[in-house]
Amino acid sequence: MDRVRCAQVQRRRWLGQRVIAYDSLPSTNDLAQQLARDGAAEGTVVIADQQTAGRGRLNRRWEAPPGSSLLLSIVFHPSAPFHAHASRFPMACGLGLLEGILKVTGVQGWLKWPNDVVVERASGWGKLAGLLSEVVLSEGEPQALVVGMGVNVNIAPAVLPGLAPNATSLLQVTGSQVNRTVLFEAILDAVEQLVDACRAGTDVLGLWRSKLAWIGQPVSLFTPDGTVQGEMVDVDASGALVLRLPDGQTATFSVGDVSLRPAAT
Ligand code: ADP
Repeated sequence: MDRVRCAQVQRRRWLGQRVIAYDSLPSTNDLAQQLARDGAAEGTVVIADQQTAGRGRLNRRWEAPPGSSLLLSIVFHPSAPFHAHASRFPMACGLGLLEGILKVTGVQGWLKWPNDVVVERASGWGKLAGLLSEVVLSEGEPQALVVGMGVNVNIAPAVLPGLAPNATSLLQVTGSQVNRTVLFEAILDAVEQLVDACRAGTDVLGLWRSKLAWIGQPVSLFTPDGTVQGEMVDVDASGALVLRLPDGQTATFSVGDVSLRPAAT
């Protein structure tokens, strides 16, 4: 098993200047949140070869065999107004993931709203990576943002169906092992540039929208109140999902307790 080597990379200014690497952790997001509470600097990265309690949204499990994936979390300190930046940094992270994956492997991924990375395969869509954004609160006020990424890198095809029905990996898509250190660095490079652009006033919403899978197509949205069928029309300025329902009305769904799928699956 290759190790992710985390040498300090001089070409970046702030992201990954401090990388805290573990063989095994319950959850990189949990540790990054703790570090953020204890004052960890912007751009601190936690990475682990294995998570024993990896999480997706709403405490759904994120499963990955040891040493097979990139499992990392980044600490951000968005400037005021917190939520304006905090809504865009996860988009920048999703875009950075796509860019890093494309640069290193040539694989063109798409974003499954709100932020997972999917690829189109002959057998249908496959989920290559997940993103989990969590706001760190201090006395009820937002103090930091932690964005976690789980990228299925060298997971053997035979193992994938046991992780999730639509899981795929870069190994499965490309047929080759991918050097995780090279991918790690490429993703951080891309995320740093995109977050810098956000801070400089660029709105990444348009770019993020252009990378969303299934716009204009029929989709199913799983919500706590049941499944909603509709056409994925767009996203609004906050990043919320706009669907056209069968009766012709549009409805907007914010990021939260909802999961998107193309209608056929
Ligand atoms: P959703 O796709 O429903 O928005 P989340 O973003 O909450 O899901 O991610 C958690 C879900 O991802 C889990 O419920 C599981 O179905 C799936 N999953 C868990 N581990 C992996 C993995 N390594 N690769 C792909 N999908 C996974």
